Amino acid sequence: MRLKSILGVLLPLAVLGAVVYAVSCHTWGVLYGLGVHPYPESSSTPWTYQMWSGVIPALTVLTLFGALSSVYHLHNCHYETCWRLGRHRVNGSPWCDKHFKDVKPELTPEDVLEMILGVLTEIRDWHETQ
Ligand SMILES: [Zn+2]
Repeated sequence: MRLKSILGVLLPLAVLGAVVYAVSCHTWGVLYGLGVHPYPESSSTPWTYQMWSGVIPALTVLTLFGALSSVYHLHNCHYETCWRLGRHRVNGSPWCDKHFKDVKPELTPEDVLEMILGVLTEIRDWHETQ
């Protein structure tokens, strides 16, 4: 608990310090971090080369990892700490072969109404036989 609170304070301070250092100590500051680089005029390399070959592909890769993680979460078992793929759908959620038997499907209002009507019919039939 104490370690989390220390990290919660130190980590934002470290990030803030790195940003302040990048802006104040480097002549191009944050632009350099985003990939803008002053190549010499004799070079045919455009000034956006590092942006197109560095930051933007990195964001694309991060997005793809996020998408893969989302698709995995959509299809894996919803039992806590289970990593298997869900092959059975109960109440719209996937469940694996191992945990499928432990899940109880929720009753729909139609199911509850049908149960009540069945009990009322039994009571009516019981009164008619008395
Ligand atoms: Zn499971």
